[in-house]
Amino acid sequence: MTSASELLALRAELTGTLLLPGDTDYEAARRPWNLSVDQHPAAIAEPADVADLQAILRFAAAAGLGVTVQPNGHGANGDLRGVVLVRPARFDSLAVDTQARVLRAGAGVNWGRALDELDGTGLVALAGSNAEVNVVALAIAGGHSMFSRRYGITARSIISVELVDAAGVVHRVSDADDAELIWALRGGGGLFGIVTEIELALYPGDAIFGGGLTFPAESAEAVITAALELARDEPELGVDIGMMRFPDVEHLPPHLRGRTVATVNLVHLGDEATGRAFADRITSVAEPIADALTNFTIGGLAAVAAEPVDPMPSAEFGAAITGLDAAFAREFVDAFLSGADRGLMRCGIRLLGGAIADELGADRAVVGAMQADGLVSAGVLLFDPTIDVDAAFAPLRELVAKHPGGRPLPSFLGSGATLAGAYDPDVLERLAAVKQRVDPGGVIRSNRPLGWLDQTVG
Ligand SMILES: Cc1cc2nc3c(=O)[nH]c(=O)nc-3n(C[C@H](O)[C@H](O)[C@H](O)COP(=O)(O)OP(=O)(O)OC[C@H]3O[C@@H](n4cnc5c(N)ncnc54)[C@H](O)[C@@H]3O)c2cc1C
Repeated sequence: MTSASELLALRAELTGTLLLPGDTDYEAARRPWNLSVDQHPAAIAEPADVADLQAILRFAAAAGLGVTVQPNGHGANGDLRGVVLVRPARFDSLAVDTQARVLRAGAGVNWGRALDELDGTGLVALAGSNAEVNVVALAIAGGHSMFSRRYGITARSIISVELVDAAGVVHRVSDADDAELIWALRGGGGLFGIVTEIELALYPGDAIFGGGLTFPAESAEAVITAALELARDEPELGVDIGMMRFPDVEHLPPHLRGRTVATVNLVHLGDEATGRAFADRITSVAEPIADALTNFTIGGLAAVAAEPVDPMPSAEFGAAITGLDAAFAREFVDAFLSGADRGLMRCGIRLLGGAIADELGADRAVVGAMQADGLVSAGVLLFDPTIDVDAAFAPLRELVAKHPGGRPLPSFLGSGATLAGAYDPDVLERLAAVKQRVDPGGVIRSNRPLGWLDQTVG
């Protein structure tokens, strides 16, 4: 057990801050974005620089503690006893090289800030749907973007990473420097070191049209059928289908309050007329209750999904799915409604295909080329403690079992999952070998441990 005086000595060594249990700000600082995870780290560090990170890693190794980085905690997944929690906010560097088409982001940068920086450049990065998610965290966990059917999974756009390994050594990791380590970082998550900065490829995207369409539940089957057909015909179009059940609470707009709705989000890299023609294939089968389709710039991407940004308690379910044939839409609607009666709040399916399935260069990333049709992501809000989470997700589990699509990206794994949920045993073995090389003592912990054989390497 590490003594308070040892931790106080570490605090004295840092330029940044270190909060310990009992400190006034510790309670607020330990809270992750997902408030259902009750984490109690041994200490919470906000390092000022690489030297601070090196001191933390040295201290942790000597004291038998783990170290984990958690910029926001959307993916928080454990109680963190015996672990120093690193908040990387001060690693806030951000630069766009429009000539080389590269985004360089520090470990503390969220997507909202990165996309604002890209506004006006005519370039896009493979960002996710939420501005409050961290750039590094999403990219190293796989990362699905509404641009992925055009340009691929985010992890495959990682050019290089600057990383402090468990021994405190700083590396610039790229295909040329360490092909095996960068392979692991392209989807293996935070197991292999503390990433201080990442370089991601940028892609052309000066005209963007898209947004969300919302329909009454009665139209769900027709609308989802039309969206699946559209996605099949247009493999580069970003398409996300879903259903939501909203509580009857005052702060919601009247068209959503207490209602169950179907949603289709579209993102087209191109002109409005073509994008509108795509959308017409859906709005011609049913009248939307809300149509938020518009031309937008990259800085406005988060408005497409319009997800909540405030911390909340939730349980998540994620899976890959395939066989989205003509009968699927009815099955999906039935599964959602039956889950919603037991507390399921939302379920979305991000359509895959297009560049996501591209085999060229896939061997340079552990995420590889995904062949499934869709990524399922569902959530239950845990404000009501009587909700049985397993029962709420059960109809979706049955649906996925009927349409098995292999394993999802790590960034789409559900609550409690390990990397064993995302990769086959032979891939886990290869990841374990990389982990053994760069962190033999298992000091660096990820929200997604390997979950396979030897827990000490996770
Ligand atoms: C509302 C919402 C929307 C989302 N949308 C998408 C989406 O569109 N596409 C998608 O792919 N995913 C999406 N996700 C999932 C998201 O990518 C994961 O939750 C991911 O973990 C990032 O969340 P975060 O920024 O809160 O990271 P955290 O939960 O804070 O961190 C997650 C893990 O990342 C690792 N990590 C983070 N930073 C570092 C670092 N500097 N060095 C080493 N390891 C590090 C650590 O292992 C850490 O445990 C979404 C999640 C939510 C809740």
